[in-house]
Amino acid sequence: KGRKMFVGSNADFLKGVVAMNGLPGDDRVEVCFAGRSNVGKSSLINALTGRKGLARASNTPGRTQEINYFTLAESHYLVDLPGYGFANAPLPVIEKWQKLLKQYLSGRVSLRRAFVLIDSRHGVKAVDNEIMSLLDSSAVTFQVVMTKADKVKDKDREKTLDQVREALSKHPAAFPELVVTSSEKGWGLPTLRALI
Ligand code: GDP
Repeated sequence: KGRKMFVGSNADFLKGVVAMNGLPGDDRVEVCFAGRSNVGKSSLINALTGRKGLARASNTPGRTQEINYFTLAESHYLVDLPGYGFANAPLPVIEKWQKLLKQYLSGRVSLRRAFVLIDSRHGVKAVDNEIMSLLDSSAVTFQVVMTKADKVKDKDREKTLDQVREALSKHPAAFPELVVTSSEKGWGLPTLRALI
C-alpha cells in the first residue's frame, strides 16, 4: 500500500514556507528530509517521486532558506528542509533559519520522522551532529539515509557506515537502521518508499 503512493506522478510542489504561520494544515502525515548542502537531497526527492524537476537544486537563489512542502498522494507531505553547512552564509541568515527549524521540529505534531541524509563519502560531520542533537531535544525520531553510495567502493562504504553507527549510538532519537541509497542507480529507493 505504502509504495503505491509513489506510482505515477503522485507528488507535487505545494509551497515554500518562511515562517510558522505559513505551514499548511497538519491533517496529513509528514516526513522531512535534512542534510548538508550538496548531500544529494534534491536528487533523492526527485528520484523517490520519479519527478525529475520536483525538488530544485538547493542552491537556487531565494529558495535556500525555505521549508519546501510537497504533497504525496492524498495523505502525506514530503518536507524538504533547507540545506545546512553553508560556512559562508551571513550570521543573521543562519540564525533566522535555525530559529524556524527549531520551531518547526518542536512544534509540528504531524511530523512522524526525519530523514537525515549523510554523504557516503564523508560520514557524519559536526553540523550533522548538531542537527541530530536538535532532533533529540525536539523528540523527533530520525533515520539516517546514506546518499551517493555509488560513489564509493564497498570497502570504504563499510568504514563510513561504522563511523555513522558510532555517531548514532549517541543520539537517543535515532533509529539504528541505516538506509543506503543512490539516486543515480536507484539503490535503496524501494526501502525508503516503504518506510515513508
Ligand atoms: P542537494 O544540495 O543536497 O539538493 O544536492 P543535489 O541533489 O543537488 O546533488 C548534489 C550533487 O551530487 C549533484 O551534482 C548531483 O548530481 C550529485 N548526486 C546526487 N545524488 C547522487 C547519487 O546518488 N550518485 C551520484 N553519483 N551523484 C549524485
